[in-house]
Amino acid sequence: MQIDLSGKTALVTGGSMGLGFAMAEAFYRAGARVAIVARREEALNDARTAIAATDVAGAAIECYVCDVSDPDQILTTHAKVQDQFGPVDILVNNAGQSAAMPFTKVTDEAWQQDLDLKLFAAIRFTRLVWPDMQSRRWGRIINVLNTAAKAPSANSAPTSVTRAAGMALTKVLAGEGAPDNVLVNAMLIGFIKSDQVRRMHAASEGSQSLDEFMAAAGARLPMGRMGEAEECANLALFLASDASSYITGCAINMDGGLSKVV
Ligand code: NDP
Repeated sequence: MQIDLSGKTALVTGGSMGLGFAMAEAFYRAGARVAIVARREEALNDARTAIAATDVAGAAIECYVCDVSDPDQILTTHAKVQDQFGPVDILVNNAGQSAAMPFTKVTDEAWQQDLDLKLFAAIRFTRLVWPDMQSRRWGRIINVLNTAAKAPSANSAPTSVTRAAGMALTKVLAGEGAPDNVLVNAMLIGFIKSDQVRRMHAASEGSQSLDEFMAAAGARLPMGRMGEAEECANLALFLASDASSYITGCAINMDGGLSKVV
């Protein structure tokens, strides 16, 4: 399937690394103008250079330093993106990191941090891009969540609870966006190779190489391997495009069969 995003503007939070980087690159290769958002400027610049290394007619890539847990930074970043590229057609709420521990260890501060980073960032960015999407009768919002949203296990808070709220938000928005062709879906991630996984390997301080660490983690999964960021990007590209024109309100497991819940 050939996917063409030329003329579209995409904003990808957490676009400097891992899944967000792969999605931004896929959107750029499909001809979109892509805004990537993250906190660390150097990683953002590296990502922009890597993506722009391939020349694609009509496509553009720009990066914006922004901590998405901060409402003021979201406001100014959205304004800058709009100045540079015009209204956002495709929003990917992807920035985040794992935060899972026993319930009694989760302080109020940790709950609030997780909610600000993963739920309120999506709410705040969506609030800003929504009116233009509605008035132009075309929009795509993709919320990157995890499989715990549907099947939370013990010791998985605060992430699992925040992600479940993100799934409810997806459904609410899908209902409100449908009459105006604003489609909202979620990707529920299992175990995908990314910078986050590289950090887990470094923290493990074991004797395994990174490849051995990922192979061992993958061997415990139904398909015998971890997913690749590019495989997530393929799904995001489809959801961001006209090819997904009758799909909204879905929470799609992107986990190689890991989740026991459909
Ligand atoms: P990575 O750690 O590889 O990348 C995370 C990205 O988010 C980076 O660009 C990082 O840049 C950015 N980011 C983190 N915090 C903030 C912040 N406060 N403001 C702005 N940007 C931020 O993670 P993954 O690619 O693995 O994860 C992507 C999403 O998928 C996350 O929401 C994660 O929770 C989810 N997920 C991933 C899984 C996996 O197996 N990989 C499993 C389940 C869920 P910087 O640090 O510079 O801000």
